[in-house]
Amino acid sequence: MTYSRIADIRADLQSGKTTCVDLVRGCLAAIQAQPELNAFLEVWESEAIERAKEIDVKIQAGTAGKLAGCTVALKDVLAYKNHKVSASSKILEGFESLYSATAVQRLWDEDAIFIGRTNCDEFAMGASNENSAYGPVLNAADPSRVPGGSSGGSAVAVQAGMAHVALGTDTGGSIRQPAAFTGTYGLKPTYGAVSRWGLLAYASSFDQIGPFTKSVDDMELVMSVMAGPDEHDATVSTKHSLKEFKAAAGAKYTFAVMQEAVQHPGLHPEVKAMTDACIQALEAAGHTITYFSFPLLDYMVPAYYVLTTAEASSNLSRYSGMLYGNRSSQAHDLESTFIASRTEGFGAEVKRRIMLGTFVLSSDFYDAYYRKGQQVRRLIREKTAEVLQGADAILIPTTSTPAFKLGEKSKDPIAMYLADLFTVQANLAGVPAISVPYATTQEGLPMGMQLIGGEFEERKLFALSDILLSSRANP
Ligand code: GLN
Repeated sequence: MTYSRIADIRADLQSGKTTCVDLVRGCLAAIQAQPELNAFLEVWESEAIERAKEIDVKIQAGTAGKLAGCTVALKDVLAYKNHKVSASSKILEGFESLYSATAVQRLWDEDAIFIGRTNCDEFAMGASNENSAYGPVLNAADPSRVPGGSSGGSAVAVQAGMAHVALGTDTGGSIRQPAAFTGTYGLKPTYGAVSRWGLLAYASSFDQIGPFTKSVDDMELVMSVMAGPDEHDATVSTKHSLKEFKAAAGAKYTFAVMQEAVQHPGLHPEVKAMTDACIQALEAAGHTITYFSFPLLDYMVPAYYVLTTAEASSNLSRYSGMLYGNRSSQAHDLESTFIASRTEGFGAEVKRRIMLGTFVLSSDFYDAYYRKGQQVRRLIREKTAEVLQGADAILIPTTSTPAFKLGEKSKDPIAMYLADLFTVQANLAGVPAISVPYATTQEGLPMGMQLIGGEFEERKLFALSDILLSSRANP
């Protein structure tokens, strides 16, 4: 039995139709059935079974939390006390977390069952999961294709029934793009909605933790557990939290469509056809589509890479062979410890980004790149807010193509960076965005539509996602 909603799992647990132990065994069987997908770096088999037994007792006693029966996979950038975390990097080989990330702890407190930690691009840098030190993850819809990245293992875990929910992180699209490629739901929350405490940082002013699920309902449930102020992360808003939203029956909404996106020459014909069909279906259901021009589109990816590599070069300076993880056997003094440990420990993409980030922050180039990047970010944020004042959400495909082949873009960083074309806007602007599985190509590859909303309007995005799906002509 596969479930798409935690509420249905809960009902079956309550009526005795299933048990948490059965559910965990189902996940473990799915993992064992397809090891070649390489979704997990570690599976906490016996722990998960033990935990399931405890939650089954709580169910019987009527004391179980909101996420009882929900199996969860954790991206390998999230700290979980006394468990390994490596960011899929050799530099953190053997490192164990001393505490749990707030997001992880909150799920645990509501009786979620953790299955294991999932493979990802090294330090979440990538769009295909080919940058992991532990090999690529394969897409279960077609194993010759990538699952997207950087949270590819988390996406495939949900896609292939290895966990009911997975946590990922999204700095420029790392939840939404793999969600689109695997036919799952993926949410990048508002910046400041979910605590980043315990998240191994890539670019701190962009990173957000968010869920992969099989339904909109589960998104709502997981977010209601995970979001909210945290004394450990000062960037989580204490003033604002997820806004309440209830769609009135028959209410009509306005969706804003970016002209440059729907007319983009790089748009795959089947993604274009899906987008056109989605627009028509919404119109047929009585909603309004407005078009806006966004000449800044071509500057989004460059601004994103200037700013995130700058932040990464600072964040990753802590991995020096001194404090955490792996120290090179070639280390014999301070300098050789730093140089040899980093040379051996970091992969090619991470090194490229540290160098790029160091360059854009260097005094000779700071004004030309970093400051300019900040200015472009401000313009994108303002323009996005302006568009959202005249519409309920921005509607845009999540990606310009369906999942590409392994190796197709890995030799060409620029082509890989352009995979983020439609996702970076939400991170640059700090607003929430959801990817909803909307259609499949003739070959059977999933494709996603994306909705971008105003700050803390996640619940509105959930309601609009339901509208998107219910208005779809041929589900
Ligand atoms: N593909 C983007 C990058 O490589 C996004 C990564 C992310 O969101 N973590 O930076």
